[in-house]
Amino acid sequence: MTIVVQKFGGTSVADTSKIKNVAKRAIAEQKNGHGVVIVVSAMGHTTDLLVKQARELCAEPDEREMDMLLSTGEGVSIALLAIAIKAAGADAVSFNAMQIGIMTEDVHAKARIKEIKTKKLEQALAAGKIIVVAGFQGVTDDGEITTLGRGGSDTSAVALAAALGADRCDIYTDVDGVYTTDPRIVPNASKLDMVSYDEMLELAHAGAGVLHPRSVEIAKHYGVPMRVRSSFKEDLGTLITGVEKMEIHKAVTGVATDLSQSRVVVMNVPDKPGNAAKLFGELAGQGVSVDMIIQSYGDKNETNDIAFTVSSSDAAKTGEIVGKIFKDFEISDNVAKVSIIGAGMIDRPGIAAMMFDALAQQGINILMISTSEIKISCLVDKVEAQKALKALHKAFELESDVIAEVKGDLPPV
Ligand code: ASP
Ligand code: MG
Repeated sequence: MTIVVQKFGGTSVADTSKIKNVAKRAIAEQKNGHGVVIVVSAMGHTTDLLVKQARELCAEPDEREMDMLLSTGEGVSIALLAIAIKAAGADAVSFNAMQIGIMTEDVHAKARIKEIKTKKLEQALAAGKIIVVAGFQGVTDDGEITTLGRGGSDTSAVALAAALGADRCDIYTDVDGVYTTDPRIVPNASKLDMVSYDEMLELAHAGAGVLHPRSVEIAKHYGVPMRVRSSFKEDLGTLITGVEKMEIHKAVTGVATDLSQSRVVVMNVPDKPGNAAKLFGELAGQGVSVDMIIQSYGDKNETNDIAFTVSSSDAAKTGEIVGKIFKDFEISDNVAKVSIIGAGMIDRPGIAAMMFDALAQQGINILMISTSEIKISCLVDKVEAQKALKALHKAFELESDVIAEVKGDLPPV
């Protein structure tokens, strides 16, 4: 039997009529002859609401208790969806991560999946049941509940697809697919029919927001074909696959902006071996990921400045860690990262210059630059982020003739 994993996000299960729609889609897939495993998120903005309630009680709530709290959201959606599927005449069973054994590391708020036990799932599939699994949550070897980080249901879905050897993992959401950039900011953004795992990874890390980055990593590693498609339309959306299956016409596939970065500048670091190792070793040891890094040219000053970016949610922790090693530093969250991404930029010279020129023409100052084989990112002032995004989208000719249907609020500046 071929297995299809379908993941439905919060907006797709926001109320009972939407849950009925999901039930319909699942049953249709089963009628196509597939074993169906559905992964759902919490209904609508439930997770945000739970976070807000906890913060009303405490500014920095305990991470274990936050996982206990947030994992309840998905618990509600799985049971309601299983009820809806049964009411529509098919057989279904819901499971949370503890019942299945979605085993994770012993870390709260951003645990990684180590292993998924498939016995219960295989039995239920063999019995003809549609399986409904709670996304976003996991369990440690000690039986502690963990969560995978915000947006983590995508990762639950792909990891389940990999563990079950599924044919496809379809991520159903409120957008039609992956766009060249956020259509809420650039209405003539184009929908991509296909994007490579690597491009999608860079887009996800660069703040494209459609997918949890870890889900793409797992899909790439296990070769799971993924689709991002609309819950409310029949359209096939965007296929995420290996680059070898694609024809690349353009240097740049997409443009993204990440508003959730903070810049840390450490000044007067003695120009001696071991300082950077100590700083970044300490940050890594405390689970803080660093993104862009630059060190100034030391010359005869005998000191350097080291600047780097971290996720704003790690800024306070980073301040504490840096403050224990160095005296002279500052942290700012008035920054945004804008990135251009494309497998087509390999072996095409001049792409960076085009990017800098497009920003310069808008009078946008570049604070930091970083590159990878298929991505160039510039850190700019936060208030310039949308202007930068629009300029880059235009400069790399990513516009479509069609105006995208825009859903949701504009991301805050
Ligand atoms: N409910 C979780 C969140 O809002 C997980 C998810 O939706 O993927 O982040
Ligand atoms: Mg999501």
